[in-house]
Amino acid sequence: MKEAPADNIFGKILRRELPSWEIHSDELSYAFLDIFPQSEGHTLVIPRSYSENILECSTEELAACMATVRRLMPAVRRAMGAGGITVLTNTGIEAGQSVPYLHFHIIPRHGSDKVSLYTPGAMLQEEDARRIQQAIRAELH
Ligand code: AMP
Repeated sequence: MKEAPADNIFGKILRRELPSWEIHSDELSYAFLDIFPQSEGHTLVIPRSYSENILECSTEELAACMATVRRLMPAVRRAMGAGGITVLTNTGIEAGQSVPYLHFHIIPRHGSDKVSLYTPGAMLQEEDARRIQQAIRAELH
């Protein structure tokens, strides 16, 4: 397992130095709600072993991370009643990567939504987070 730099936000979340709304946890990956969601249920999946971005990640670690993404997608979609899901990873500052720790966005999509890659959503509120967390977890079998 590679450790993230001490000041890395997602490293801190993994070490529980910062709080997060956990959606899923296993030996190789961790999933939690995005704090500035593009839409309700916006979830992030990260590998436990640190890589700055997808290009730095080994195929094996990536496969484990993607397995979690694949597992969560239908749960998130059902829980949020979304028609579609966007999965993406920004690679590099120029692509909009603001946290230098590999993460996959799982973003529920609705026909009329205004999801934007470039505009942060409003901050996630506790009562919404709890409800969304429960709804997604209920869909994970
Ligand atoms: P990116 O811009 O692709 O690097 O995505 C980083 C994402 O991390 C953004 O969608 C942020 O809203 C999200 N984010 C930043 N800090 C936190 C945090 N402490 N907990 C949850 N999500 C976060």
